[in-house]
Amino acid sequence: MCGIIGYIGNKDPVPILLKGLKRLEYRGYDSSGIALLQDEKLAHIKRAGKVSDLQSLVDDSSIHGNCGIAHTRWATHGIPNDINAHPHLDHTGNIALVHNGIFENYETIKTLLEKRGVQFTSDTDTEVIVQLISELYYNNEKLTFENSVRAALQEVVGAYGIVALCADEPNKIIAARMGSPLVLGVGEGEYFLASDASPIIEHTRNVIYLDDDEFVIIDNEEYSISNIQSKKIVSKTLTRIDLSIEEIEKGEFPHFMLKEIHDQKHSISDTMRGRLNLFDGTTNLGGIVNYLPNILSASRIYITACGTSWHAGLIGKHLIEEYARVPVHVEYASEFRYRNAIIDPNTIVIAISQSGETADSLAAIKKAKELGATTLGICNVVGSSIARETDAGIFTHAGPEIGVASTKAFTAQVTVLIMLALNIGRKKGVSKDRGKELISSLKTVDQDVINILRSIEDIKEVAKSTSMANHYLYLGRGINFPVALEGALKLKEISYIHAEGYPAAEMKHGPIALIDEKMPVVFIAPQDDTFYKVLSNIEEVKARGGIVITITDKINSSIKSLSDFVLLVPKTHKYVFPITSSIILQILAYEIAVLKNCEIDQPRNLAKSVTVE
Ligand code: GLU
Repeated sequence: MCGIIGYIGNKDPVPILLKGLKRLEYRGYDSSGIALLQDEKLAHIKRAGKVSDLQSLVDDSSIHGNCGIAHTRWATHGIPNDINAHPHLDHTGNIALVHNGIFENYETIKTLLEKRGVQFTSDTDTEVIVQLISELYYNNEKLTFENSVRAALQEVVGAYGIVALCADEPNKIIAARMGSPLVLGVGEGEYFLASDASPIIEHTRNVIYLDDDEFVIIDNEEYSISNIQSKKIVSKTLTRIDLSIEEIEKGEFPHFMLKEIHDQKHSISDTMRGRLNLFDGTTNLGGIVNYLPNILSASRIYITACGTSWHAGLIGKHLIEEYARVPVHVEYASEFRYRNAIIDPNTIVIAISQSGETADSLAAIKKAKELGATTLGICNVVGSSIARETDAGIFTHAGPEIGVASTKAFTAQVTVLIMLALNIGRKKGVSKDRGKELISSLKTVDQDVINILRSIEDIKEVAKSTSMANHYLYLGRGINFPVALEGALKLKEISYIHAEGYPAAEMKHGPIALIDEKMPVVFIAPQDDTFYKVLSNIEEVKARGGIVITITDKINSSIKSLSDFVLLVPKTHKYVFPITSSIILQILAYEIAVLKNCEIDQPRNLAKSVTVE
C-alpha cells in the first residue's frame, strides 16, 4: 500500500507530483507529503488527511524545486498524523525518503541508532532507514550518498519500495525495490518513479518495471539500474503502456466504483475477447498453452488469493472440479504461505490478484515455485509482480480498477476461471455440446449486464428500506455461496454495516439466532438444482420475521409471497449466474453506502492494493 512518486526533469515538479498522488490515492489516504530539492536545499510539506488537504497547504506555500518525491500513506507503523506522514527526513534535514512497505527489524536498528544519539521524531518504521542512511553517509567520508543507501538497505529486513533525495546531490534521485512495486517512467529529458504506471502515462508511455533487489540512480539526464548489493548493472527492457487517460478517470460518474460497475457492460467481454471458440465449444488461452501438459497431468490445484479474489477462487474451485475433475483447494495467501501445504511438481498453484502486487499472494507464488509447482497468475495489471513471477497466466483485461471495493476485476476473474475450467475440461473429455452451451451464455453477458443496470431503481428501493440495518446476512448454496460472501464483503467495505455470508443451509447452525424483523437477509437463489432447498431456507427466515431479499432468475409464486423484495437476474447458464448476480450485490452495496453518505471510493482504513503482509 502507499503510493509513491518521484520526478526529475525540467518541468515544475509540484503539479506533477500532486496530480500523481491523486492518481495513487487509491493505494492509501491516511496522510500525504512532498519533498523538493532546489539549490542544495530540501523543502518539505506533509500532513494527515487526503491529498486535497496537502494540495491546499502547498498552494498556500512557496515551496518549489527542480526535483521531488511525494507519498500518500496507508499507515502500518504509527498513527496517521502529520509527523508520521512521509517523506521522512534524517536529523540533518538533508535527506528525504518515501517508502512503501514494512521494515520488520526497525526496532533493532532504532535502538542501535538511539544509543548513538540519533533522535527520532516519528513512530514509523520508515524513519529508521533514513536515519540509518544519514548515519552511514555523514560518518564515513568514503561513502557516497548512493552507497550509503545501498549499505543501509542491506541492514533492513522486510519489504520496500523507496525513493530518496539528498541535498548534497541536487540533481539525483535514488530508488530501490524489494517486495513493493516500483515503475520507472522514461520521458524526454525527464524521469518518473511511481508505485504504478497511472501517474506516469500522461507524461510518457515508456516504462520499466523494476524487479526485487534493483537499485535506480537518476543523475541529471541519465539513469542506471543495478543490483542493490553487487552494484552489477541490470539490463532492462522498456515497456510501452497502452492505457488511456479516460480509463483512469471517473468521467461523468460520481464515484469510480459506480463507473466500474457500469464498465461491466464491456469489461467481461473484453476479458473474453479472442478467447471464446463457440464452434468447438472451448476457449483459447494463449497464456497457458506452454504449460498445458503440466496442467492436464496435475494431481491437485491450489488457488491462493486474498479478499475478493479469494471469493473468485472459491467459484473457480466449483468450476474446475466440475469440468476438469481435479481437486482444487482454495486458500488465503496469508495462510498458505506459512503452512506446510502439500506442493510438488504435480501441483498447480494459481494466484489471483487484481493488482498483481498483493504481497501475500506474491510470497505464496514464490514459495510454490521453490517447491517445484507450476505457477499461474490471474491478474488485471499487465507487468505486475505476480504476472512476471508466475510461469504463465491469463490476464483479466478488465481495465484499470481504481475504486477500493473491487467490482469489475471480480467479474473478470470469475470469467477467466470459467474459461480456464472449460479449457481444461474439454481436453479431459467434457463434451463439445456442454462447452457450447456455456459459451453461448457467456456471449450474451454484455446484454445481461445492460439489463441489470436498467433495474437500478428496484435495487435503490431495497437500499432505501434496509440502509438503517446494523447487520445483514447473505445466503447462497453451491457456487453461489462465494457470491454471498462477496456480497457481504462489498457491503462491509463501503457502508460499514456488519454483514456475513453463509452457505444457506448452514444458517440453521448458528446465524439463525440473529434473525429478527430488523435483519435483512439476501438470498442468492437461482432456479437450479438447489432452488427448492434454498426456498425452505427462505421459509425459515420468513418464519422468524427477517426481511427477505431474493435474487433469482425466475420469479414463481412462492418466491413472490415469501420475499419482501425480489431482484431479477436475466436467465443465463448456472455458471454465468455468479457473475450477473454479483453485479446486483455490488449495486446494492453502492446504493446503501450512498444513502449512508460514506466515502465510497476511499473507505475507512482500507487501501486497494495490499502490498504489505
Ligand atoms: N510502513 C510505512 C508506514 O507506516 C509505510 C506503509 C506502507 O507502505 O503501507 O508509514
